[in-house]
Amino acid sequence: MTGVLSFAPEWVLQTVYLVAGVLFIQGLRDMTHPRTATRGNKISAAGMMLAVLVTVLWFEILDPLILAAALLVGGAVGGWLAVSVETTEMPQLVGLFNGFGGGASALVAGAELVDQFAVSGAASLSIELTSTAAIAGIIGSVTFWGSLVAAGKLHGVVGGSPISVNAGHAVKILFFLSAILAGLFLIVQPSFLGAAPMADWIPSYWVLVAAASVLGVFLVLPIGGADTPVVIALLNSYSGLAAATTGFVLGNSVLIIAGTLVGASGLILTVIMCDSMNRSLTNVLFGGFGEDTDSETLDNVYDGNITETSPEEIVMLLDTAQRVVIVPGYGMAVAQAQHAVAELVELLEDNDVEVEFGIHPVAGRMPGHMNALLAEADVSYDKMRELEEVNPTFSRTDVVIVTGANDVVNPKANTDDSSPIAGMPVLNVDEAQSVVVNKRSLSPGFSGIPNPLFARNNTSMLFGDAKDSMQGLVNDYKES
Ligand code: NDP
Repeated sequence: MTGVLSFAPEWVLQTVYLVAGVLFIQGLRDMTHPRTATRGNKISAAGMMLAVLVTVLWFEILDPLILAAALLVGGAVGGWLAVSVETTEMPQLVGLFNGFGGGASALVAGAELVDQFAVSGAASLSIELTSTAAIAGIIGSVTFWGSLVAAGKLHGVVGGSPISVNAGHAVKILFFLSAILAGLFLIVQPSFLGAAPMADWIPSYWVLVAAASVLGVFLVLPIGGADTPVVIALLNSYSGLAAATTGFVLGNSVLIIAGTLVGASGLILTVIMCDSMNRSLTNVLFGGFGEDTDSETLDNVYDGNITETSPEEIVMLLDTAQRVVIVPGYGMAVAQAQHAVAELVELLEDNDVEVEFGIHPVAGRMPGHMNALLAEADVSYDKMRELEEVNPTFSRTDVVIVTGANDVVNPKANTDDSSPIAGMPVLNVDEAQSVVVNKRSLSPGFSGIPNPLFARNNTSMLFGDAKDSMQGLVNDYKES
């Protein structure tokens, strides 16, 4: 079918696709640093808009009215999600987007098979077409269902702790083999299993999609809530692979470029997240992490060793401090305490106190989570120090204020080989002269284990919501 731009020579389309590809690459490059990440996002979005528009105008894919309505509705839903979703809910939103990408790839590959069969019969279903469609169908379906389960876990609508699935591995193997078998049938005999009129629908493809869908659910269901963000990054990579393979099915170069970039960057992100947590990918996919800790264990660790503090006492500490490091974590994001924290920093600096932030690579629930929140509160990137930079400075730091962080400052990672976070690089805040930890209770963090830092001699606990506590501290500091 032809669209309104199809009178132009083919090279025009390919050139616009190339420009879109360059914009994707430049956008990704910019996203590697928090300072340029917003610009990178806009550049990539412009590239995608260009690719979508030229594709829609070049090929007459659907009735223009239906297409315009679909773009309008899709754009409106996307815009509404972008402005209404809290930053703490971002990982599940990304999960949903990955899932839709995977699902779309599987459906488009299937539609192309059905279309080719309807136009030119079984002879048109070349081995290149059926094999790439089979790969896109399997990866896309696994991604769609796996992402829905992962997003559900992060949103708390699907159990967050590892769910033991009856004969889990056997079920996964069964559905994996079924999907592969259906894929082979598709390649060898595309209309196999289907007598007319069913043959038109290429049933082996949809059997493959069904088997891969069940596989996607069973692959993600047993993964612990604590590991779910890593799985979302991996599924992001899968969605890229599915899109790239669908690009081969359609012979569409921009889809191949975009899919490959998403596939590669998703995989790199997965590796970075695993490294920062000192976990192997196999351990994430098949180990159980984030199980509930029984409260007795917590009581034994903390019993009688907790020192509680108040904003007034902290102000006294700050009055004599020359260097302060603030360590934010997931709780700061939940409480939206970044503005109060930024105000405290300003006040301290007005009193000639040197202030820096210690940012752990996996603080919060997604890479760059803390940097993005602090930047939103106008904290300069120059004050945000990465783990390797800030760790050597704790021994010359007077006060560390840990707000809403837990696992990223847990010394057990350095001292207990049997701990689930053993070997994870952590912020060694306990080396500072005084440590103030602000959180609502002694509850564990994402990994579900107690934190001996809370019971150290130089640690005092400021119990309360991060925003209220930081605002209280600001008010008391102003009055002092
Ligand atoms: P944690 O999940 O370890 O701890 C957060 C703490 O915040 C909790 O202990 C909680 O304690 C406290 N909290 C929650 N709400 C509030 C609030 N309103 N006010 C004050 N405190 C609050 O977070 P960290 O940032 O230290 O560590 C991140 C964890 O997430 C690590 O285990 C990491 O491996 C994992 N992770 C991170 C990823 C990433 O990319 N960033 C990806 C995958 C996993 P309380 O309930 O007592 O208030």
